[in-house]
Amino acid sequence: MHSEKSSTLCKYCLDVCPESINIQKIFNLYNDEKMVGNLLWSAFGYSYCNYSKLPGVGIASDCTECGMCVEECPQHIDIPKVMKDVVKTFETEYYGFKE
Ligand code: SF4
Repeated sequence: MHSEKSSTLCKYCLDVCPESINIQKIFNLYNDEKMVGNLLWSAFGYSYCNYSKLPGVGIASDCTECGMCVEECPQHIDIPKVMKDVVKTFETEYYGFKE
């Protein structure tokens, strides 16, 4: 698990997203959430919720699957696919989405 988290720290994908999604930040919260076991509510989801309210930030559901981040990723992570799971994980009614 630790190496999985570390793999999101390379930052190659930062600054390429036209939707201003901070992929690294979102992946870190997502990985932490997966480590605690997909609870209905967690501090990581709450953090994601608060982050989503900041002006000008993109969140996982803003992903258009353009693929620009994938081109930059040396580990060939299917970032748009992960973003879809981030939506399912965090953008729920428990974190104030879909109300
Ligand atoms: S695929 Fe999604 S996360 Fe990646 S650069 Fe495009 S909009 Fe941003």
